[in-house]
Amino acid sequence: MHALVVIDVQNDFCPGGALAVDRGDEIVQPINALMAEVDAVVLTQDWHPAGHSSFASSHQGKTPFELIEMPYGPQVLWPDHCIQGSPGANFHPDLEVDRADMIIRKGFRAAIDSYSAFFENDHQTPTGLEGYLRTRGIDRLTMVGLATDFCVNFSAVDAAKLGFQVTVLQDLCRAIDLEGSLQTALDGMRQAGVTLA
Ligand SMILES: [Zn+2]
Repeated sequence: MHALVVIDVQNDFCPGGALAVDRGDEIVQPINALMAEVDAVVLTQDWHPAGHSSFASSHQGKTPFELIEMPYGPQVLWPDHCIQGSPGANFHPDLEVDRADMIIRKGFRAAIDSYSAFFENDHQTPTGLEGYLRTRGIDRLTMVGLATDFCVNFSAVDAAKLGFQVTVLQDLCRAIDLEGSLQTALDGMRQAGVTLA
């Protein structure tokens, strides 16, 4: 069984959003088209409480895109984004959300971020997605979405480590690319056994 996992195609990650990924909106229609070709469609939704610890505004004297050390490891500080219930947290209006079998929210705990659809940034706290996929007999994942070098990357690497057969469609992802983070992510995914198509 084969699932399409659509990572964080939300207003705040698209042009005009709080943490816009360049040309992030270009991938929406081709993602919709892919939904017809798989056994299951899963959407992830970044979903932070106001004042989340991944926001630079929550740390005195810090600015967005600085790196800090959190109890669970290094964390990039972001502009405030995807606040629960805000328009920015909504999916892109053209994404065919009604076709999703499952929507999994992540990053809802104030003290920890969650790039991956499978584990929070401590790499230990599960989101529950693994259990959902396994109980549905899904072993093959195609991943697309935003952003290639953060949430897609972390999700794909975790999925591969968990034993899923993972393909990332690079044309249907867009990157933030902070200081070479895209190349690092591509190398890391390849090393983890993710197929980059
Ligand atoms: Zn976030």
